[in-house]
Amino acid sequence: MGALSGVRTAVKIVNPATEEVIAEVEMADAAEVDRAVERAVRAFPAWRAVAPGDRARLLRRFARLVEEHAEELARLEITGAGHTAGNARWEAGNVRDVLDFYAGAPERDHGRQIPVAGGVDVTFAEPLGVVGIIVPWNFPMVIMTWGVAPALAAGNTVIVKPAEWTPLTALRLAELALEAGLPEGVLQVVPGEGEVAGARLVEHPDVRKIVFTGSTEVGKLIAAKAAEQVKRVTLELGGKSANIVFADSDLEKAAASAPMAVFDNSGQDCCARSRILVERSVHDDFLARLTEAVREVKVGDPNDPASQMGPLISAEHRERVASFVTEADVYARGSCPTGPGYWFPPTVLAGSSSESFRRAFTEEIFGPVVAVVPFEDEADAVRIANDTAYGLSGSIWTRDVGRALRVARAVEAGNLSVNSHSSVRYWTPFGGFKQSGLGRELGPDALSAFTETKNVFISTE
Ligand code: NAD
Repeated sequence: MGALSGVRTAVKIVNPATEEVIAEVEMADAAEVDRAVERAVRAFPAWRAVAPGDRARLLRRFARLVEEHAEELARLEITGAGHTAGNARWEAGNVRDVLDFYAGAPERDHGRQIPVAGGVDVTFAEPLGVVGIIVPWNFPMVIMTWGVAPALAAGNTVIVKPAEWTPLTALRLAELALEAGLPEGVLQVVPGEGEVAGARLVEHPDVRKIVFTGSTEVGKLIAAKAAEQVKRVTLELGGKSANIVFADSDLEKAAASAPMAVFDNSGQDCCARSRILVERSVHDDFLARLTEAVREVKVGDPNDPASQMGPLISAEHRERVASFVTEADVYARGSCPTGPGYWFPPTVLAGSSSESFRRAFTEEIFGPVVAVVPFEDEADAVRIANDTAYGLSGSIWTRDVGRALRVARAVEAGNLSVNSHSSVRYWTPFGGFKQSGLGRELGPDALSAFTETKNVFISTE
């Protein structure tokens, strides 16, 4: 990480489960971002020239150091972001796996040879240069690495701007990268405010690409700003995903798994299945089972391995989440601690047609609140599922294979699962339709988001 000279402000990092200040991190101003870009520009020629096998070895060494420090990284995410111990450990493992996966990429970053008359035509996958990665607070180290690993593997240098509330794992990962032997300036982390440090990365002419994960609102601003320079963007934005339950499904399994499909990470998950659509004939039965399952969700101290859900990230965010819940719309509620910490109980809204219910059913709440509605038939389910500007993920519960495939093809979303709620595997593509994003991360093709195709014709005459 670069020296933080020229720094203007510091932000207190608060443990969301205790409200204790655990660290203070200085926020970089625009001038500091400019210096980081300068360092990244200087580091680029040597980094892109590193032989593919050597770049792979450095990324593997980085992955090994993450593995050795997995518990430390997990603890930072538990205390700094309120993640449950189980989630935080999975996240540290995911960072390791993503680095390992893309460590296999430099030697496979092939071009093509295309038949032409009078010569040879080949394509090269050229790195872009400096890539800026702007990260939200909900899965800090994981989302950072989804951009960092393929960007570095493709030969780019990278600057990460973590979210104001959660910079600790990003800073530690940058130290581990240096320890692994990545040259100075190849991976830098610049904590700063979005409108200052993030905005500067977007407008800096030497930053050739922005990977932004965050709200659709800010994503649109960034896309507009980037367009002025035809700057490349990958956008991973908001969601309001549907969990569609047909009457012929394994209702017990569908109801038992529905709570954690939305309440995991306290609902602060872009893939949260925060709308449940249930076929009318089983609607009441499903709601009864769901209520039972929601009351069993263990909300508490993130350090306790039994906890399934921790607090929300901040007092400010809890207020925002609470603004979506009107008492008359509440069908069922779980429990949560009452002492210090930004706690919010798992909440089910159902059986209402009020304006407040409509708002909760339509807007991204990003908290542990789920809204349930009935549907009449397959066409009605697809209509409701697609009646949103978002299109990130979703689930389909049915025993009818034909219907599972028909509905999966009809729902406008980038990541769907049938009879399960899984969205993310590092070796499969991830991203959104419509206003949930632009481009794809992870999977076999992520490197192409960090390279330009160059076509070269060599005359043999
Ligand atoms: P946010 O948009 O407020 O902030 C995200 C990042 O952008 C932060 O680092 C912030 O500092 C920065 N930022 C803010 N304003 C900026 C500006 N003008 N210029 C440049 N950078 C700026 O989002 P958040 O509240 O941190 O995260 C929650 C949102 O992220 C939710 O909408 C969620 O759905 C979305 N998200 C999407 C995915 C996905 O993969 N699709 C994953 C996680 C989160």
